[in-house]
Amino acid sequence: MTNLLIKDLKHTSPSDVVYNVEGWVRTKRDSKSVCFLEINDGTCLKGLQAVADKNVINADVLNKVSTGCSVLCTGKLVSSEGVGQDVELLLQKLEVIGLSPDSYPLQKKHHTLEYLREIAHLRARTNTIGATARIRSSASYAIHSFFQKNGFYYVNTPEITSSDAEGAGEMFQVTTLDLNNIPKTEDNNVDYSKDFFGKKAYLTVSGQLEGETYALALKNIYTFGPTFRAENSNTKRHLAEFWHIEPEMAFCTLEGDMDVAERFLKYVFKHVLENNEEDMDFFNKFVEPGVKEQIRHVSETPFGHITYTDAIKELEKKVDKFEFKPYWGCDIQTEHERFLAEEVFKGPVIVTDYPKEIKAFYMKVNDDDKTVRGMDVLVPRLGEIIGGSEREYRLDVLVKRLKDLNLKEEDYWWYLDLRRYGSVPHAGFGLGFERLIQYMTGMQNIRDVIPYPRAVGQAEF
Ligand code: ATP
Ligand code: MN
Repeated sequence: MTNLLIKDLKHTSPSDVVYNVEGWVRTKRDSKSVCFLEINDGTCLKGLQAVADKNVINADVLNKVSTGCSVLCTGKLVSSEGVGQDVELLLQKLEVIGLSPDSYPLQKKHHTLEYLREIAHLRARTNTIGATARIRSSASYAIHSFFQKNGFYYVNTPEITSSDAEGAGEMFQVTTLDLNNIPKTEDNNVDYSKDFFGKKAYLTVSGQLEGETYALALKNIYTFGPTFRAENSNTKRHLAEFWHIEPEMAFCTLEGDMDVAERFLKYVFKHVLENNEEDMDFFNKFVEPGVKEQIRHVSETPFGHITYTDAIKELEKKVDKFEFKPYWGCDIQTEHERFLAEEVFKGPVIVTDYPKEIKAFYMKVNDDDKTVRGMDVLVPRLGEIIGGSEREYRLDVLVKRLKDLNLKEEDYWWYLDLRRYGSVPHAGFGLGFERLIQYMTGMQNIRDVIPYPRAVGQAEF
């Protein structure tokens, strides 16, 4: 007797081998002499059809079987006469392991994604969320393998930090102080010397700054872990907790950075297209028609390039199209990003050299002293998917930037040390893993591509 996963069994030829198949019943269809069960073990989208001959399988057992119950099926694979599958399992024995009464919330009918979010502990048993979970896993593997094959070391940067990497003030504070009895200093401020870390601490928004310290030791590194942002907006693209991929390369300028970003995205897209065919077909058919072709197109087309200044010129030509009127110096909005990718370039495009006022302190200042060597990769349908830059590696310029932005030099003493000792041009980028999954699957809401989304007012499970 052999135990096999349903994803493998579906492609196994009929024979006299007796298999044990474990899984959950998705549907049960009765006829006079036989009962058809669709068994799914989560290893693939479409389950295995099991056929119970009522002369062989006891009616008491069949009566216990219902949607959602777990079973152990024993039988041989035979050619299926029905449509939709090559083989089916002709049952010799059926054992119900865990019952599933009528109160099971996932009865066979259409459920909205909003409803499924309320039962996030069960929703991975649906086609959509199951397929998303498998693609997440496959994409994670591709991400690690891309970097590992290209000489990048995986570095784990801290989750708790005392520096705000983005300077955007969207951080969650971490404290063990008793909020009902906060210790105060003589001048009536919170006395953080009494807090756990002896100073104010936060959940990190990005591992970049610590990542840079390792790039300046190991040359090419990447991080892949959760980061946190107290995003106060309720959007379909923002989570309070998301998985962040952040490569950092020493001896590298913006050109090398853009090249890695492009090769990286293409590699991951190709991997998923090749390895998750059944799930991608599902998204292509039921979630975002054409998504497979789009992903394939992106994985084969050279990315476009445009400077921020030229991008604004393009946008100004079509001013009437936008809710937010573009002008030089404005932050490019999602509607603008999409326009550039969808209408102007008809594919992915990398925008570079943004005004320094709208970008973070660590980006390298250009000779014009107005723009910085930042880049955003924009894709159709989503807008920004990657944000990156060449880092300011000149100590004097970086110190001046901190001062201009009212950031305290002493808070960044170790970051500045990288510019004091063996400084080199270096660059990197950040990619939100969930944005990537959203893009590949065509799922509308980022909360449906992470198992347990965290957002304003949402921390259940
Ligand atoms: P946005 O303008 O979309 O808020 P950002 O400019 O804040 O993005 P960066 O600080 O450059 O983004 O972060 C790098 C990447 O992390 C982004 O390109 C995006 O893929 C992802 N990202 C940023 N914020 C979030 C979030 N709240 N939830 C999920 N992914 C995010
Ligand atoms: Mn943001």
